[in-house]
Amino acid sequence: MPEGPEVECTRQYLQSLIGKTVKKIQLTELSQKYPKYQNRQSDFDWFKGQRVTDIERIGKFLVWHFNGKIILNHLGMSGKWILLKKGNQKLPSHSKALMYFEKYPQYAVFDDIRNFGQFKVFESYEKVMQHDPIRKMGIDGLAKPFPMKEFLAKINKPNYANREIGAVLVDQKLVAGVGNIYKSESLALAKINPTRLVKTLTKKERKELGLAISKTLWKAVDCNGSTFSTFQIPTGQEGSAQNWHKVYGKHGEICQNCKTEIIRIVQNGRSTFFCAECQK
Ligand SMILES: [Zn+2]
Repeated sequence: MPEGPEVECTRQYLQSLIGKTVKKIQLTELSQKYPKYQNRQSDFDWFKGQRVTDIERIGKFLVWHFNGKIILNHLGMSGKWILLKKGNQKLPSHSKALMYFEKYPQYAVFDDIRNFGQFKVFESYEKVMQHDPIRKMGIDGLAKPFPMKEFLAKINKPNYANREIGAVLVDQKLVAGVGNIYKSESLALAKINPTRLVKTLTKKERKELGLAISKTLWKAVDCNGSTFSTFQIPTGQEGSAQNWHKVYGKHGEICQNCKTEIIRIVQNGRSTFFCAECQK
């Protein structure tokens, strides 16, 4: 599933579209089967002749800015943008939205194999900011420099005290952009056992965790993200962050540090991978 780094890589590669004038934005017929794509085609009429003024990332969302309206776009479990040249390539089989530009030989296709993505028109940026998952979002794990003060203030909140850190890290309300992969990897780097209750983490450990999150997420951005089954940046290139993962998906394998077997547990219905020897 694309997490903050994969969405950030996508954003970086889509920067070439900023300033381009839209000829047409079109939802595919297939998209209409899924609730998060159910704008009417007429909702996109407004965009004809509008320029893309910015493409921003908020947590795991891409926010497409135009002069006024906004398109909020979530990659879901498997969404990816692909830039295709007109005429010479077949549309990917799970295409949900197409963006054509004036005087531009390429067009952008949003392909989403598992159908959990989102592509939705908002009347204004204010409306996007009031939209629930965004309104409740925590600090941006990819913010530079990492907002340590805010992170420490948030993690100190009483509602986290009795929860396991491995479960807290993925809920987006503490740190946005951390999903299952980078939760396990950040905890491995900080040498913290994911089953620890937040209240048992010392101040030093909390700081180390904050730094580990920032380091892990940025290292992943530098590798074009992690590709397990579907993720690609818009050029079609796959990410390589999976090559340095210490624990994610490695249950049954041996920890490279201490030779103990890496284990997998389930926290709030999500897998967590760790080395019980290295992570205390
Ligand atoms: Zn180990």
